[in-house]
Parts: sequence; structure tokens; C-alpha cells
Amino acid sequence: MPRSTYTEALLGPELYSKVRDTKILVVGAGGIGCELLKNLVLVGFADIEIIDLDTIDLSNLNRQFLFRKPDISKSKALVAAATARHFNPSSGIEIHARHGNVKDSMNDLEWIKGFGLVMNALDNMDARRHVNRLCQAAGVPLIESGTAGYLGQVTPMIKDHTECFDCVPKPTPKSFPVCTIRSTPSEPIHCIVWGKTYLFGKLFGEDDEDLDTEELDQAKASGENAEEIENLKKEAAAFREVRKGLGEEDGPQRVFHKVFNEDINRLLAMEDMWKKEGRVKPVPLLYESIIDGSFQVPPLRNAPVAPQPQTEGSAKQAEKKGLKDQRELSLKENLELFIDSCKRLSARAIAYPNLPLAFDKDDDDTLDFVLATANLRATAYGIANKTRFQVKEMAGNIIPAIATTNAIIAGLIVMQSLNILKTLSSSNSGTSTETNGASSAGPAVRNVFLRTDPAKPLGFSEPQRADQKCSVCRDVYIPFRVDLTRCTLGQFVNDIIKNWLETASFESREENDELEWTIFEGGRLLADPDFDDNHERTLEDLDIKRGKMLTVRDEDGKWRPIHFCICEGDAQATPPYALPSRPPSIPLAPPAPAPREASEEPILLDSMPPVAAVSAQNGSAAPASAQPAEVVPIASTTAAGIKRGAPEDGDVRLDGEEEVAAKKRKVEQVAVTKVDNGDDFEIL
Ligand SMILES: [Zn+2]
Repeated sequence: MPRSTYTEALLGPELYSKVRDTKILVVGAGGIGCELLKNLVLVGFADIEIIDLDTIDLSNLNRQFLFRKPDISKSKALVAAATARHFNPSSGIEIHARHGNVKDSMNDLEWIKGFGLVMNALDNMDARRHVNRLCQAAGVPLIESGTAGYLGQVTPMIKDHTECFDCVPKPTPKSFPVCTIRSTPSEPIHCIVWGKTYLFGKLFGEDDEDLDTEELDQAKASGENAEEIENLKKEAAAFREVRKGLGEEDGPQRVFHKVFNEDINRLLAMEDMWKKEGRVKPVPLLYESIIDGSFQVPPLRNAPVAPQPQTEGSAKQAEKKGLKDQRELSLKENLELFIDSCKRLSARAIAYPNLPLAFDKDDDDTLDFVLATANLRATAYGIANKTRFQVKEMAGNIIPAIATTNAIIAGLIVMQSLNILKTLSSSNSGTSTETNGASSAGPAVRNVFLRTDPAKPLGFSEPQRADQKCSVCRDVYIPFRVDLTRCTLGQFVNDIIKNWLETASFESREENDELEWTIFEGGRLLADPDFDDNHERTLEDLDIKRGKMLTVRDEDGKWRPIHFCICEGDAQATPPYALPSRPPSIPLAPPAPAPREASEEPILLDSMPPVAAVSAQNGSAAPASAQPAEVVPIASTTAAGIKRGAPEDGDVRLDGEEEVAAKKRKVEQVAVTKVDNGDDFEIL
């Protein structure tokens, strides 16, 4: 009996035939992608294309289970397809694997239109946005997904029925005011950012005096304490001095004295700075008394009761109990680690004087340095210390990638894909704009998210309608098959814009509306009514490529922009382009948004986006509209886009909780069942 017999019985013949016939695109063969591909094959999807530009890394193997050690350095997409093929043999399943970038020019509008459904299993915003735009332009349903630690979400996006990826604004990465990092830290992350980007850069990075001055001048111009800024400038000059002597025997000790004693004393002399509410004065550190154990550790600023003084004894106890990287170092150990890592790094800097060093979480020398400096600074400011593991996670912007979360999310993607397929009219395989719409009853699809509340592990919400102001899903897209070597910009303007587009139906067009057009590609202006210098040039000459868009806007901004999506043309055809037989309907543009207020604070470095909206190992956490209130279990210091390596043996122990929880959370139904629980979302 073929493996698909049960699936066919479960889904029914109609839905099962759609599963067999619909061409699926999976973008990404990583954490979610591997799980997803396996699920698709087992359900019986028979025509799958998977694309990924990445190769397999050792650190992937703890969760991307389609890969084995001998596969390291090979293409993820090719290996994933080769492995998954065997899961449902003799069922006629075709998996087309492509090692490449989804943004490659060959992946144009015509290409994406060849799919009935697209599933994103991506790890970065840029590619997500690209696929979203393609799917919106082509009218192909997209299932967007992402995980961040224990959290995750699945968001179906169907043109004209739900919001798209860009309808929900994404928060910009969090950054910190210069003075918080340089003078008045109050959180461990401030100390880590200081160690990683400021002190490390000053001692071992590229010495860029101009950049430094510019940054401080900007901070001053935007209203930060002028005296403090002048002080920071002097400090920068003094750094150049200690940097020169780093290679000497007492070099690291001199750095310690300058950074943790002299600089702190200089800050303390600025009385004004410490008058502000909530500021805690730092305590200068003393090398000798830390070494001989007589140094009085300042109390923790947030401690409700007097803190236990840190002693060598308690550190030793912790050492026995904890794992190497999860043990908090004593003050003396931090100092010794600072001296030692400084020596190691300066030896490297001397050996390769023209090669500035850069922080890398997997480079032990640089991590030790940041660990020690962050903890020493934290101690001086009465801020809690962090372990090596925590500093690695925070400085490396790591969000743990958890196999179980990926598996749950991949399962939910397939369930939502079945919901979408059910809504497609039975007469098609969902390959064109006209036929991809949902049934008249509306799409029975849901945004589903995984939460950390054991009582309500899965939540869902109805997809929101598209934001009328969205510049991605509300614009007009036109497939434009063109031979770029023969079509000139003048032809495009005269034949297509002035003639063909005139026949389109413009919403609320008055008889006397004279249309004047401006033509862009990306951010480049190619032509407008007073600028025809490029008219004689071919599109190829203007560096217009397949996969790009020629964007046409009316000068008054009355209507939506129209994007002509460049697809491969026929080299023999006359004229050298082909357009849809029916000109489009052009809706009115929404009213212009109010101008944004300028950002209040000058910013410093580091990409530390707020947790709730991060784009993590395999995705972004839930958008604001679908976000449960308690989405804060990830340390507020983790951030986007960096993959986490496999933990070393004995290094990290993940709680077994997620496995138990996953068993309890088994989702048994394809369709979502609402439970009236009085909450503002429902539970599966
Ligand atoms: Zn949108």
C-alpha cells in the first residue's frame, strides 16, 4: 500500500488532488526548510522546488536533520532534496533543488507565477521582502514563517485578502545613545556593547580619528552634554597613547588603569552628570587591591538587599556546580582574563600590523576580551556580571535556534497550506493571478503563533486586511516581457506609457486630467516630462536587467505607482516587447502620510533590535498585530540574523521542557478550532 493512502483518506480526494498538482516553492533549506521539506514530501506534495544559496556548516547539524557530517560544505538545497526524496519513495514526487539566490535575475515575475504556493523559510529581512514583493506582484499566495527561540509564527499572505509582509512596519534595530555606552551604562548590554564596539575597536580595530570626531560632533550637535563630549574627545586622544604601548610587558595593566580608573575618575569629576535621576556613580577599580583581594566591590544598583560580597570561595563553588561557560567569574578572574586576553590580542596585532582585528563571537581571544572588559565595567558601575555564555549570546546577537520550534512551525505551515489550497477553486492548480484568489467565503487561513505559555501554547488570529497605504501590495504590477537589447527608453515612454497605459482605467479620472509621467528604476530617475536625455538608449544600456522593475509615477502622485516587471523577452519579436492583453485598473493613491518626526537621540552602533520583532535564526517573531503580550522570554539583548553554532559538548544544556511541551501541544486538526476563552485571541 503506498504511503499516501492514509493521507488521501484524511484529506479527501479533492484536496489531495490539489496537493498532488500544486507546484510549491520552498525558499530556504535551513532550520525550518528541512522540516518543511520532509513534511511536504510525507503529505504527498508532488511538485516541489527548493532554493537556497547557503552551504552546510557543522553548526547546522544539531537541527537541520537532512544533513550529515559528510555533507558539510555542500549545497543545502541539493542535499536536502536528495535526502528528502527517499522519505516517500515510489510516489512520483519531484523535487527540483536549486543552489542559488532567490534574488537572482532569472527568478522574475514569470518564474514566481509558475507556482501555486510559495513558502518562506528564510533567515533575513531582505530576502523575505523580495519574495513578498514577487508574490504580491504575481498574486501567488505566500506563507511566511519564522522562529526565535521558543517563539515562532506562521503568516499566510494572500494578495487582496490579507496584509502582506510589508503592511506591518518592522521596528528598526535598537541602538543606544553615545553617552549611555561611553559614560553612563545602566545595563549589562551597555557594558558589552562598550567592550565589543568601543574599547575593542580603540585598542585593536582600525584607528579612525576622523570617524570618532565626527560621531562626537554629531552627538554634541544633537544636544548631548557638551562638557562630556569634550571629555570623550580627550579620552580618544589618550587611547592612541596607550595603544602604542600595548605590546610592552605592562601595556595591558596600563590600559586597565586608564580605562577603569583614570577615565572613571574623570567622569566622576563632572558633578552635573550624576545629578540626573537614576544615575549611579561608578567606582574606580584598583589593580593592586583587586589582585590582593582587598578591593571593596561596589553594591549592585538593582539589588533589593545588600549584595553578597564576591569572594574567591563563592566563585569556586560555582565552578564546581556550573559548566565552564556558564560560571560567573570573580572580579580577580575577570581582571586576569582582561590582562591575558589583551596580551593575546596585542601579540596578534603586532604580528599582523596591517590587519585590524574584529570581534567575532567564535574567536576565543576576542570573546574573552569582551567578557572581561564588560564585567569589569559592570562591576565599576554596580551592574550585574554576565557569564561567558551569556556574553557570547549577547555580543554575538544570537537567538537560540531550537529544533523543536522549527518542527512545530514547519507543521503549521503545511496545515495553513492545506487551508489555502482548500480555498482555491477546484478548476485550477493555482498558477495565475485570476485563479489564486480565495473562495467567496474568504480564505480559511489563520496567522498562527507559538507562545511560551504552557497552558496556551498556540494562538491564532484572523489575518488582517491589507494596509491601504502599503507601497508593496497595493501598487500595480505589470509583467513586461522585453528584449532589453532592442527596446529603447524612448520606445517605452512613447509606445507603452503614452499609448498603451492611456487605455488603462484610472480610478476617478477626470476628463481634463493630463497625465505626466516620471520613470524610475530602483532609486534612479530615468525620464520625466522635462528630461528625455536617455530616450535614445536601450534598456540594456541603461543597466535595466531581468527581474528589475521600471516604476512609473504620475507627477501629481494621484494614482498608485505602476511597476513594469522586466521578464525575459522574445529576441525575434516585433515590437521587442509584449504586454498583457488587458491594460490594468489603476487605483487612486492614498493621502500622503504626515511627515515623520526626527529621532530624538543620537545613536551609537550595534544592531540590537527589540526582542519581539527580531528576525531570528529562521525568521521574524510575530508581527505586532499578532503578538501575544508576553513575548519577552528571549533575553532583550538578542538580535537579528546571526546563526547560532552547535553548542560544544558540555557547553550548553538546553532545557528539556520544549520537547515535553511539544508532545503536549500536538496539533491534531487541519482546520483551526476556536475556543471561546475570553482572551483577545483564540487557541488552537
Ligand atoms: Zn502590503
